[in-house]
Amino acid sequence: MSEEIILYCIECGARLQEDLITYLREGKMVYCEQCGFENKPSDFNLKIIPKVNASKTPKDLKTLIKATGNRLLKKVKTKINEMREEQKNR
Ligand SMILES: [Zn+2]
Repeated sequence: MSEEIILYCIECGARLQEDLITYLREGKMVYCEQCGFENKPSDFNLKIIPKVNASKTPKDLKTLIKATGNRLLKKVKTKINEMREEQKNR
């Protein structure tokens, strides 16, 4: 939960609450609390993050997951394990 993303309503510019951002990142549509405008995930430059153990994942790996998306998640997991091995060896 340390990763902070700040998003603003595309209609009125009001800051969206953290839980709304969470919904957006899960691919859900949210309504602005100020103006009631529908903010869609596609309106933002957001990659939808799959629910993996994100809190246990280092930041750069989160970026990797975002960049590759759901389909490549398995490959990413393998990559994560490889990277962890590398870190152990140092
Ligand atoms: Zn708004």
